[in-house]
Amino acid sequence: MTEVESPSVISRREFVARSALSICGAAISASNVESATEPIIDIHQHLGYSGRPDDVLLTHQRAMGISTTILLPAGRSVNTPSTHDGVSNGLQAQCLGNEACRQFAKAHAKDFRFGANEVPDVDGAVQEIERYLKRGAIVIAEQKFGVECDSREMQAIYALAAEHRVPVLMHWQYQMYNYGFERFHRMLEKFPKVNFLGHAQTWWGNIDKNNVDQSVMYPKGPVAPGGLTDRYLGDYPNMFGDLSAGSGLNALTRDEDFARDFITRHQDKLIYGSDCSDRVGSGAACQGSQTIAAIRRLVPSKAVERKLLYGNAKKMFRL
Ligand SMILES: [Zn+2]
Ligand SMILES: [Zn+2]
Repeated sequence: MTEVESPSVISRREFVARSALSICGAAISASNVESATEPIIDIHQHLGYSGRPDDVLLTHQRAMGISTTILLPAGRSVNTPSTHDGVSNGLQAQCLGNEACRQFAKAHAKDFRFGANEVPDVDGAVQEIERYLKRGAIVIAEQKFGVECDSREMQAIYALAAEHRVPVLMHWQYQMYNYGFERFHRMLEKFPKVNFLGHAQTWWGNIDKNNVDQSVMYPKGPVAPGGLTDRYLGDYPNMFGDLSAGSGLNALTRDEDFARDFITRHQDKLIYGSDCSDRVGSGAACQGSQTIAAIRRLVPSKAVERKLLYGNAKKMFRL
């Protein structure tokens, strides 16, 4: 779900492209032009996100230059400790659930796919997720609940993911969602066939070895390599990073020298997602566009840019 907006950054390439277009007087955005030859997969969007209408989602994704979008549903709405008595229903952002995402993806089959989700500790959670996997869901997500990451319920979901050969995407947020980040390596070892995607504040804060205060959600300044996230990505072939949201963009922009090295080292592990709820789809108001621009600015080569924006997702989701 949405986190914070970051300041506007327009890449030189985008600036040049925009200038060229304005000279021609063409009423088409730079990102649209690039997507014509260079497809982008967005692995992290939501339906009904903060009340955003469906037609606005469609124009938002087109404006960003996205060719394929994966919609991540919420679980059912319940008042349990795992939803913080309902606070986390709708992924804490009015996001819609499995059936709505399936229907939307079916109606826009060329451009959209969908995931399957459920509150992990409600009765029948695994059955509900499996029902949507059998109907075409390609990921279990977004797992964003107040549960231990190695609880019996979460392990049942990991086992289901292994059986259906789909990734699991988790929102890591200290003392709020998916507890026990420091123990997660045990799950990576226990479920080697499941590809896990890390997302959100605690995931991205821990790229830094000196990230001592886990309560800081958007740490700024220089990054020391070797943080827990850096190690999980380096040490476990089944751990991947979802670059979406304000936390992903912050991780790329807080120390760009580190980010260049980080991207180079983990070029087969990082995957673009937007997770922005704005209604614009470009420029300063749109964090997803900012993240695309940051990736283009920080990659060592065009080939690596294509991996992050397209190739790695295509491979993981078998698109
Ligand atoms: Zn999230
Ligand atoms: Zn946006």
